[in-house]
Amino acid sequence: MRIRELVRSFEPYRVVEEDYPIRLDKNESPYDLPGWVKEEIFEELRELSFNRYPHITSMPAREAVASFYGLSPENVAVGNGGDELIGYLVRLFEGDYVVTTPPTFGMYSFYAKLEKVPVVEVPLREDFTIDGDAIAEKAGNARVVFIASPNNPTGNSQPEEEIVRVLDTGKPVVLDEAYAEFAGRSLWRLIEEYPNLIVLRTFSKAFSLAGVRAGYFLANEEVVDALYRIKSPFSVGIMTVAAVKVVLRHYDLVERRVAKIVEERERIRRAFREFTYPSDANFLLMRLDAYEFLLEKGIVVRKLSGRLDGHIRVTVGRKWENRKLVEALREYLEVEGCG
Ligand SMILES: *Cc1c(COP(=O)(O)O)cnc(C)c1O
Repeated sequence: MRIRELVRSFEPYRVVEEDYPIRLDKNESPYDLPGWVKEEIFEELRELSFNRYPHITSMPAREAVASFYGLSPENVAVGNGGDELIGYLVRLFEGDYVVTTPPTFGMYSFYAKLEKVPVVEVPLREDFTIDGDAIAEKAGNARVVFIASPNNPTGNSQPEEEIVRVLDTGKPVVLDEAYAEFAGRSLWRLIEEYPNLIVLRTFSKAFSLAGVRAGYFLANEEVVDALYRIKSPFSVGIMTVAAVKVVLRHYDLVERRVAKIVEERERIRRAFREFTYPSDANFLLMRLDAYEFLLEKGIVVRKLSGRLDGHIRVTVGRKWENRKLVEALREYLEVEGCG
């Protein structure tokens, strides 16, 4: 037996966070679902047969998402997290390579590498906006272009006119809006105008469902139909379907939580304005090489590298967690002599 070289070139997952009390490294919601919402999910589950496979095309969840947007379920695909859908979107279209805009979400190149499809990188500009013309120039024989807005890990939204510039190439564009709820805006309505637009969303961030695994995309019927031809048939379990149906009924709760997180985000940003980039998401990019210092204080954040060497990405947490973070960073700046 020999494990393939390709597979061995992937790093094993490392678990660091579990030993630390404050986990601000994964952009999760700091708020669990309240017990009464979980009860509603359990009520849904009580009625379902655990011995049966889930619906093969997740129709009940797609109907719930579709009615939330006023779309048809034929325009909605649901996956076991947004990640699963990214893996399929790399495989769905004709073309020789995928286009990404680093520094951005790592899963696009992860799945491209797994699929052995080359990645053509069109770096973000100095201000972290995408260069629509440069992407269009490289889009020639691309399978798909991945654009995250707000971008992870930089936090900024991408200008609509730059996105439209890329859409006008006619190449498939995945607009990853995992953090759109925190930005308060979305370009999902453009799917009516652009059959090549796929808007990817997740329940992992604003909707507090990271542990349940639920994501979806909104797109043209043809793209959704293609997805369901190749998707692993039962990857979306009944727990995911039940949770999606219930949380969409309580969007008011989600909105209140998003507002709190945005308020906290701006508070942290004000405290370290010099070192912090503006953010439309539930995290902040900071030009502070404080990863190890924070870890020693029991706070896990994301350490960045490459073009963002010496930067950290900090998820906005609960009020007390953010207070600890601010305290620790003030101390860091004092120790470093730049405070
Ligand atoms: C978190 C995230 C996703 C989706 O995550 P899932 O938990 O798999 O739904 C997609 N894109 C970006 C940029 C993200 O940060």
